[in-house]
Amino acid sequence: MQHITVVGASLAGLTAVRALRAQGFEGRVCVLGDEPHQPYDRPPLSKEFLAGTSTEDEIRLTESDDADLDVDWRLGLAARALDTGEQAVELADGTRITTDAVVLATGARARELPTAVPEGVHTLRTLDDARALREELAPGVRLVVIGAGFIGAEVASTAVGLGCEVDVVEAAAVPLQRALGAEMGAVCARLHASNGVRLHTRTGLAELVGDPRVRAVRLSDGRELPADVVVVGIGAQPNTEWLAGSGVPVDDGVRTDASGRTGIPGVVAVGDCANAHREYTAGPLRLEHWTNALHQPPAAVAALLGSEHAAPAHHAVPYFWSHQYGCNIQFAGHRTEDCTVQVEEGDPDHDEFLALYLDSAGDPVGVLALDHARSFGRWRRKLAQRT
Ligand code: FAD
Repeated sequence: MQHITVVGASLAGLTAVRALRAQGFEGRVCVLGDEPHQPYDRPPLSKEFLAGTSTEDEIRLTESDDADLDVDWRLGLAARALDTGEQAVELADGTRITTDAVVLATGARARELPTAVPEGVHTLRTLDDARALREELAPGVRLVVIGAGFIGAEVASTAVGLGCEVDVVEAAAVPLQRALGAEMGAVCARLHASNGVRLHTRTGLAELVGDPRVRAVRLSDGRELPADVVVVGIGAQPNTEWLAGSGVPVDDGVRTDASGRTGIPGVVAVGDCANAHREYTAGPLRLEHWTNALHQPPAAVAALLGSEHAAPAHHAVPYFWSHQYGCNIQFAGHRTEDCTVQVEEGDPDHDEFLALYLDSAGDPVGVLALDHARSFGRWRRKLAQRT
């Protein structure tokens, strides 16, 4: 194998390149990225970077010794097709790059509203999105966030810290209901309320009012919330449309086995774009978690190169964190609808606790902690041992 092409120049793509070199690949490595930027870290975009307390330099993912990786970076141009027969990637300008193998690391993008939006309405996924939103947030600005998921909640938290007046609109009964369930979602609802954010649940966006600039959000229950700025945080969708016709299996992301293999020789997928089989859930699961994008590539690269690779077992347990209103929220494992929640330590009413998610047999399958990092680490390791 002489030439490997990585599509997607972000966390999973860069990690794949590092893994290729660490596992002894000496051939040509080309990284294609549609954003004009060198890889950067996304979690700060809704936290420190949005708050103005970290800079672009500080969120850069590449380090000084990455210069030794000897990468041919092609940035600012999307891949528009994959020809698995001819083993080539076609770029948006028509250029074709022939390659022996491909790592798909195209991540996900913010889900957008189906209609055109007025000025002042934002989504948040990229550095450019964060720059644009940051310019609009100032003391007294009325911000309405549509969707109380992780991005929506973090934007609300950061905006409150910047002195904005914030409303959050959520269709479910509580924030993060799908990820954390009703009981723990209620804890997150209290976090919003105790930090001065008005949370409107069981309602949704009916219409954005204002032309050319947004001035209000009309809700499906008829109410109207005045708005200077709106953030739409209604989830993300995997960037896989460009693979149409390639034969690569796509179903809510690129379907892969536990090592990132797609079933097409020489093509693996990693990170947010991959709907991978998980030992932990004994089925496919597409994760949008930072640690997943960091831990999948070494195994996928080993599968490409046929090299030996042993991933530490605890990496198989899905893990994410979030920072909201000064609280550190951590979750590991996988919640299903039939889980019950048992508080093990601390007190949810005092925003400092650890809770277990138990399956129908009473076995722990997930752990949630709010400002309880030490015990959380212990439980995360225990969950890994079960796998
Ligand atoms: P991405 O980071 O999405 O990168 C994919 C890259 O590929 C992008 O640059 C994309 O533009 C590019 N691309 C797409 N299509 C093409 C194409 N056809 N050709 C070329 N390039 C293409 N996770 C946590 O666990 N905790 C957090 O607190 C947290 N906070 C977050 C906050 C924000 C605002 C966001 C957006 C994400 C956050 N995440 C968090 C999630 C985490 O950042 C992602 O899981 C991680 O970035 C995934 O990395 P990736 O490389 O798979 O995909």
